This record gives sequence, C-alpha cells and structure tokens, in this order.
Amino acid sequence: MSDFDVIVVGGGPGGATAAALCARRGFRVALFEHSRFPRHKVCGDVINPNCWPVLEKLGVAEGIRALPHHDIDAALFATPVGGVVNVPMPCGAVAIRRSLFDQALLEHARTCGVQVFEDETVHEITPEKRVLTGMGCYRARKAIIGADGRHSMTARSTGLVRKPRGVNGHIAFQAHFRAPPALDRRVQLHLFRGGYCGLVRVDAERVNLCIVTDRSGARFHNDCEALFGHTVRQNPHFRNLGIEPEPLEPLQSVHPLRGPMNAPARNGVFLVGDALRIMEPFTGQGILFALRTAEIAAESIGSPSQSERSYVANVTTLYQQRGRTNEWLRRVMYREQAARVIIPLVRRLPALARWLADNVLGEERRFR
Ligand SMILES: Cc1cc2nc3c(=O)[nH]c(=O)nc-3n(C[C@H](O)[C@H](O)[C@H](O)COP(=O)(O)OP(=O)(O)OC[C@H]3O[C@@H](n4cnc5c(N)ncnc54)[C@H](O)[C@@H]3O)c2cc1C
Repeated sequence: MSDFDVIVVGGGPGGATAAALCARRGFRVALFEHSRFPRHKVCGDVINPNCWPVLEKLGVAEGIRALPHHDIDAALFATPVGGVVNVPMPCGAVAIRRSLFDQALLEHARTCGVQVFEDETVHEITPEKRVLTGMGCYRARKAIIGADGRHSMTARSTGLVRKPRGVNGHIAFQAHFRAPPALDRRVQLHLFRGGYCGLVRVDAERVNLCIVTDRSGARFHNDCEALFGHTVRQNPHFRNLGIEPEPLEPLQSVHPLRGPMNAPARNGVFLVGDALRIMEPFTGQGILFALRTAEIAAESIGSPSQSERSYVANVTTLYQQRGRTNEWLRRVMYREQAARVIIPLVRRLPALARWLADNVLGEERRFR
C-alpha cells in the first residue's frame, strides 16, 4: 500500500486545481482519474471571467489563453416568439473546448509534482482514509478530496450525500457542430417550450450547442434532426442561424442538472466542484465553483487556522451569494410566460441587464 498526504479523486478542473495547490504547499499528492485525457466533457465550454484569478494563481493562465478559444463579449437571450435581448458581459469570458482546458490543468498539476494516475477508477473509500481502486489500495495521511463530479463516488462512499428534494426532470444534450459564419462573440440562449438551448462559437470551425429539455424532448436522443425539431427549432431566432443537425462527435447527455449541496467536509474528506453541488448550467458558473472550492479546500488542509468548519462556512457563503441569481434566472428560463415578460423588461431597462450580468459574472471579492 502506498501512502500520500493528500489523495484527489477525479481530474477535472476541481481535482486538478486542488491537487496542484496542495502539491505547491509541499504535500505528497496522488490524483486518480477514471478516464485518459484528453477526454470529452458535457459542458457549454464557457469560462467565467472570475476563473482568471484562480488560473493566474495556479500559474496556468497564460497557457490556457494560448489554447484555441473564442472571446465572448455579450449574452443574447431569444424567446420562442422572436423577442431578443442583448446583455453586455464583463471582459474576460471565453469559450474553450473542455477537452483542451481540462488537459492543460491536469498537465499543470503533473508539473507541480502531483502523481497522476489516469484510467484508474476509485471504487471505495474506507473510514481509515484508504482509497481502493481497480489497481490497488492507497492511504491518505491528511485528507481526501472528492472532485469526482456529479455522481460522486466519494460523497456516496463517505456518507456526505444529501438526498435531492422534488423532481428534476430536465436532461442536457451537448455536442459540437459546424459553426455557421454568422456566429459572433455572443453566447446565445434560445428559449423554447420545455427548455432552452445555449450555444457559443469555440473556435473557427466549431459551435458548442447544449439543449436542455424536459422528458418529452429527450425521447429524440438518438435522432439529432428530430431533437432539434421538437425543441430548439421552435425558436425562430435559432432557425435563422442555420445550424445543421449533424454533430461533429456523438451527442452526449447528462442528468440531473441541479441538486442540493452535499455535506462539504467530514473526517478529513472534502468535496469540491460538482461533487459538492450541481448547479443549473446556463449561467456558466460550474467551472468557477470547481476552481474556487478546490482553492478553498487546498488552503484548509493541514492548516490549524482553516479547519473543516471554516471550509464548510466559506463554501456555503460562496454558493449562497453566487447562486441566488442563478436560481432566479432558472425559474424564468423554464417558464415561457415569465420569459415573455422579463425579456422585454430587461431590454427596456439596461440597468437591470447590467445588474444581472454583474451578479452572475461580476467580481467575486465584493461578495465576501
Ligand atoms: C449542459 C451543461 C453545460 C455546462 N456549461 C458550463 C459552462 O459553459 N461553463 C461552466 O463553467 N460550467 C458549465 N457546466 C458545469 C461544468 O461542466 C461543471 O460544473 C464542471 O465540469 C465541474 O468540474 P468538476 O471538476 O467538479 O467535475 P468534472 O469536470 O465532472 O470532473 C470530474 C472527473 O472525475 C472523474 N471521475 C468520476 N468518478 C471517478 C472515480 N470514481 N474515480 C476516478 N475518477 C472519477 C471523471 O472522469 C471526471 O474527469 C455545464 C454543465 C452542463 C451539464
């Protein structure tokens, strides 16, 4: 059995960030990742501007900016009846394919001294902080960080899971498609009955397209033409874009799209990112939450002044403050009638548009 100070489960943005920051604090760190990178990940590919301070701190920002990407300067919301509103965004938002973004972060963790085990799934975590994988058994002397995403084995295995309340019937489909030339620097959100579609150009050739639909649309999961027809093509603004329903890679789906916060930490086990809490995706804050919770967890481990209790308090505050607008917008996005009222209102009141953008994308320090 090998011993490490810190064992990280999952090599997405949360895991790679937590591992790199722990290694930089002098800990001996192992990271176990189920896949081999680069791997595709269901995501809208939008990097929130507030991610940059964490990426700068990691020392990886320059490398990420050098990846193929597309700058974003506004968000466009389009209702099913053709109403459109533009919301300017603070500078710094970009779209980057997750396969590239995540690989850059994982490579960086390696260069910080993290021992990365790819293709190695963690199956169980014991109360003695033993981590059992398909290949062996490892022990964490100080802490385990669960960064294993929305169906976190770490949370289940250590009793940190909180049961969801109510039904969350929506499903997300995502793939890259050939980008029509007209796509500019706006991330676009097209509402339709039963859901919405988010799209953004990620580079010269590709557009990332996510369709979030209730179960009626999900019946067409293996027929992209029919899926478009029963969901986003209801929206005339989307129809006019002329995106061909031929994905450049197989369409992938995920469910559920939101959930309660799990217990953040107990007995030396810390949850970060989606393992801690799944947030409704359209405000593009998931990666930010993964980076920030990873940063807070790495600061908390082994530090007498920063206990598990302060980790719990800090991440609870982070989600409460950043998540409020997300929750409010979620209610609007799924209710066609509400969207029909709110969108013209936002168009008439630019201050409201600025307030919304600021709450979702504005600088975090003013929330502290
Ligand atoms: C449709 C959709 C669109 C989205 N769009 C955006 C967006 O535009 N911008 C944004 O910021 N966020 C977006 N999100 C959210 C974002 O994708 C997530 O919040 C983010 O990926 C969370 O990062 P993470 O590191 O916590 O988990 P993940 O990125 O899920 O990484 C978890 C890793 O753990 C590995 N793993 C899982 N189980 C095990 C195991 N047992 N052993 C070892 N490894 C394991 C997985 O292989 C995976 O690589 C979107 C989400 C959805 C569903």
